[in-house]
Amino acid sequence: MSDVNLLIRGGYLLTMDSAGDLPGADVHVRDGVIARIGRDLDVPGAEVIDASGKIVAPGLVDTHWHMWNTLLRGMSDGRPVPPVRGYFATCVAVGRHFLPGDTYAGTRLAAAEAVDAGITTVHDWAHNIRGLDWAEAGLRALGESGLRARFSYGYQTGHPNDQLMALEDLAAIKSDWPSYHADDRIHLGVAWRGTGGSNPAMRVDPGLYRAEIAAAREHGLPVSVHACGPASAAGQVRTYADEGLLGPDLQLVHLNNASPAEIALAAEAGTPVSVSPWTELQIGYGQPVTGELLAAGLPVGLSVDTTMLCGNADLFAVMKVTQACANGQARDEFALTAREVLRLATIEGARTLGLDAITGSLTVGKRADIIVVSPESPSLGVVTDPARLLVTAATPRDVDLVLADGRILKRDGRLTAVDPGEIAGEARRALAAVLSRASG
Ligand SMILES: [Zn+2]
Repeated sequence: MSDVNLLIRGGYLLTMDSAGDLPGADVHVRDGVIARIGRDLDVPGAEVIDASGKIVAPGLVDTHWHMWNTLLRGMSDGRPVPPVRGYFATCVAVGRHFLPGDTYAGTRLAAAEAVDAGITTVHDWAHNIRGLDWAEAGLRALGESGLRARFSYGYQTGHPNDQLMALEDLAAIKSDWPSYHADDRIHLGVAWRGTGGSNPAMRVDPGLYRAEIAAAREHGLPVSVHACGPASAAGQVRTYADEGLLGPDLQLVHLNNASPAEIALAAEAGTPVSVSPWTELQIGYGQPVTGELLAAGLPVGLSVDTTMLCGNADLFAVMKVTQACANGQARDEFALTAREVLRLATIEGARTLGLDAITGSLTVGKRADIIVVSPESPSLGVVTDPARLLVTAATPRDVDLVLADGRILKRDGRLTAVDPGEIAGEARRALAAVLSRASG
């Protein structure tokens, strides 16, 4: 619990709730919560942060991110070692040489980048869990980061299709959860490999994948699964529908190649979707289908996915390309507005993770996940339409202040809770050791 008593004074508030925009308003943060919002608040004893001329918004919400492999940033082509090509092959070839400390270093680097970029909620889709120690390493990095998070316990890269994921370790983490996270800042989910498994050319035996789903449901945990693939994989959503799995507790990732009938099935069940336009484009899944998903009434959030493919975790850039693709596809400048995209990166993203009562908007009573964006850099300079500026112009360097759960994690444009140089150094040492083992 944070004991911060803070008054963010006089900013342009994009509340992203029914209050709309509040120019020149104050936000009072007390004990981790948004205590009051209004003009000229009088809060004796509060530390005042001047936000006049700046944009105040909810912290951004990432909805699916393989944080461990940020250690392999830019390595989707297999370089420098080993001699394999492509994201999945590289993940398998290098990921199997990860030790728990490498997962910690990668997740920690990703978390620091998240804070720097104004992301206050992440969904860590942990798909290189090679034993309980790897899961604990990822959880430790998330816990130390100060971020709000879903940790989705998964399998290991290259997990054999004829073997169950380690359900006994999942059960152990679930039963020991209070010892991992006494507060509710982090919650547990399941990263499910789906019916196709790690090798898309094969199928997981229905007996195995049904057991994995049954375990998740037995523990009352939300499940996330990729439904992406090239056109040949179309039909995944139909399979999940036939298995009776669609619903608010099953997050689908990508959906680029789902048919209109499949999108309708998912919408009917209220199934949330995570769209990661940069990685979908980079890996060749095709264009993101945000416009179609929204038109069908699906809950949609935006995501980083993996910096092996997209390079960085700039969710501002994710918003921008989301809007550009939707408008380009519709051949309509007004098909998807900047404000709607900003909703996807805040309150709607939170809704897809079941966190909309806690975060995603500047609302009294919600946890204080807040960013302040300064217009001082040459790429901003003026403040015209604040929502449009966040979507099309802002970059992580413009994020002046970040509060997550009421705790200051970035201030005056600098990370305050961690030493980024130390984190980068740790990551470089870990990567060198991983690559040495991979090439040995
Ligand atoms: Zn993914």
